[in-house]
Amino acid sequence: MDLPVDEWKSYIFQKWSLLPKSIQDTISTADTLRDIFLHSSSLLQPEDEMFLKSLSRGYLVGKDPNAPPFYREEGNKKFQKKDYMGATVLYSKGISHAKPHSADISLCYANRSAALFYLDEYEMCLKDITRAQMHGYPESLQPKVTLRKVECLVTLGRLQEAGQTIRDLESDFAAKPSLAAAQFQILQRNLCRLKMKVQERENLTASFPATLTKAFEDMDLREENEQIPGASSSVSLCMDPLKGRYLIATKDILPGELLVKEDAFVSVLNLGERPPLHHGLESKWDTQVTNGDLYCHRCLRHTLATVPCDGCSYAKYCSHECMQQAWDLYHNRECPLGGLLLTLGIFCHIALRSTLLARFEDASKVIRKLCVEMTNKDMCSPESENLAQTPSSDLGGESEKNGTTVKTPVPGCDLNGKYENNYNAVFHLMPHTENHSPEYKFLCALSVSALCRQLETADSSKPATAPPAWCSELSAWGVAMLKHMLQLQCNAQAVTTIQQPALSGSKENSVSNSRQVRLATGIFPVVSLLNHSCSPNTSVSFISTVATIRASEKIGKGQEILHCYGPHHSRMAVAERQQKLRSQYFFDCGCPACQKEKHQAAVGPRWEAFCCDRCGAPLQGGDILSCGSTSCTEPVSRDRLIPRLQDLQQQVGQARKLFGSGQLERAIQLLLGCRHDAESFLSAEHSMVGEMEDALAQAYAALGDWQKSATHLQKSLRVVEVQHGPSSVEMGHELFKLAQLFFNGFAIPEALNTIQRAEKVLMVHYGPCNDEIQELQKMKSCLLDLPPISLGPSV
Ligand SMILES: [Zn+2]
Ligand SMILES: [Zn+2]
Ligand SMILES: [Zn+2]
Ligand SMILES: [Zn+2]
Repeated sequence: MDLPVDEWKSYIFQKWSLLPKSIQDTISTADTLRDIFLHSSSLLQPEDEMFLKSLSRGYLVGKDPNAPPFYREEGNKKFQKKDYMGATVLYSKGISHAKPHSADISLCYANRSAALFYLDEYEMCLKDITRAQMHGYPESLQPKVTLRKVECLVTLGRLQEAGQTIRDLESDFAAKPSLAAAQFQILQRNLCRLKMKVQERENLTASFPATLTKAFEDMDLREENEQIPGASSSVSLCMDPLKGRYLIATKDILPGELLVKEDAFVSVLNLGERPPLHHGLESKWDTQVTNGDLYCHRCLRHTLATVPCDGCSYAKYCSHECMQQAWDLYHNRECPLGGLLLTLGIFCHIALRSTLLARFEDASKVIRKLCVEMTNKDMCSPESENLAQTPSSDLGGESEKNGTTVKTPVPGCDLNGKYENNYNAVFHLMPHTENHSPEYKFLCALSVSALCRQLETADSSKPATAPPAWCSELSAWGVAMLKHMLQLQCNAQAVTTIQQPALSGSKENSVSNSRQVRLATGIFPVVSLLNHSCSPNTSVSFISTVATIRASEKIGKGQEILHCYGPHHSRMAVAERQQKLRSQYFFDCGCPACQKEKHQAAVGPRWEAFCCDRCGAPLQGGDILSCGSTSCTEPVSRDRLIPRLQDLQQQVGQARKLFGSGQLERAIQLLLGCRHDAESFLSAEHSMVGEMEDALAQAYAALGDWQKSATHLQKSLRVVEVQHGPSSVEMGHELFKLAQLFFNGFAIPEALNTIQRAEKVLMVHYGPCNDEIQELQKMKSCLLDLPPISLGPSV
């Protein structure tokens, strides 16, 4: 997804391998990004562009007039089966293909409003009704949606508006008596019913405690850093010839303290792994739900009621405002390039969008300077940015110049030494030009120059949208984009979210199996200041496009603030981590976790340990394992244990499939069998055992057996605790699940106790605005405010 599609990648690599050695050498040894770009782009042939275009055409990004009726029909099928969530997404897909002010678009909006109504999304429902009417909803069907509108307004307690809408409708009917009688009666009946509903609702809310209102307080930094807006005053920016820029604590920091809160400079939504469509395929309209259907393309907020771009079918937004903003900032240029951008991947897309955003910065001086620097050697040469080789006087210290002390700013800072979330900071992130392979640089350069040529073509046909003014020369624009593409390998930040299995239908009888998904890729200049550790002392989370970094443990004054680039010690063995960090980030990790594990390499972590069949002690050794006890002398070979583990893995997968198709009893039988097998060779803390216990917990919960479910979940919790630590975010999610279970099973003391534990852990990582925390607080107030006796199910 980040990189171009495989077909283009292998095409370019092939092209590279066929280049004469002399040309390869010229590109490999070019010492500026400008030279790399110019040499490479002179090799881009018309047939290469043709090939790229044919790949781009495989994506359905335009509006297909035949799609809306198809999606509406598919949506109606789901609607009939009461799968309102599924129906909503399909209507959205229909909307994205429909022309503005057409019957297609208004019918899809109206149908979606009905689905949203059944999902209790009244505000969204109202918006969709307005949209349907705006796009010319047929007169004859108006009473139907107006009735829905009244129902929403009443449910939301907006009785006056409801009354007005009724009166308008009545006078409408008066003008057309043929419609009046039946409809009028229905309306009257409904109004009566709805008024009563509101009364009940008002009584209810009056007694419900307003504990959640102060939730937003802690979302801001207590004291903002003067040098680095977006960071807390508890940290400060340092510079070191070997480490580059990094942050340290200027005072003792407690777990949960907010250290950085930064909106992405740029972010691009990851539409999900979707192979390009091939021509002549039987169904060209996919009905699959992807990120692109559920999240706003600009602000990344989750939404069921997307509003599409008027010009394409792939860009969808949470609101008209987001659509307009995106259009003004970058989408006016990107809109016609959808297929090409999907083919070239997210890094290329971010590179383009960053330069488009740079146009809006009130930093014309900086940008002009950058432009000049871009065309001469120093700025793009790897040497000037390789800090290890730069004399220390350039590193932001003070230097003697003409007898007076001059302060040289740290790279990315402005002349006053301020480091801000802006294009200047982005431009100074390290591209590591010298570390990338020549093929990779060639791929990036050719992708960027193909993009430039497309932009050029678009410009000549539409002179109104000129290239960014600061790039008088298109090649300078290309060099800037190439630089961003190379920066991204080390500086791209994955924007993640916890996705609830909301689309699977019935949510009442299930243990939520939420999982972390990658939503987007972005650049966060302040977050980029943090160095990596495999056992970091911070935790990062996202709301919309805003990243927050909190201390996950106590950080003493003077200690470095560290976050994990991905390879975390609880999820990856040391060798694998080192390999990953070296190949992607070009450094050898020397964090305490790595140093410790290198020395004890012979004994793996407990969550991967095999254990002795006889005494249950963990087995040690390389290819031949033994427990070390004198009474069990027989050693076992690893080659015999691995297949048994793989077999279990497969069976658990099979059990999940059974579970998915509703065969709960069979799934449980299979899992219990696995669990029994596992006892003879896996430790109780093995991650595989944890997985089985978790699956069992889910299956029992689905059967409504809360007690058994809780027992198994507690066992899985123990494994998570060993693997990730008692205050890890993973532990927080498990505790959340357990709290839900106890809550649903009306085990009040256990529920309260678990809610408290979960809250404590999750608060450190996410702060109070997190959805799970709010859910926990709701559960708690529900348990505390209602007498236990009334907690039984109402049916
Ligand atoms: Zn939005
Ligand atoms: Zn568009
Ligand atoms: Zn490490
Ligand atoms: Zn033994």
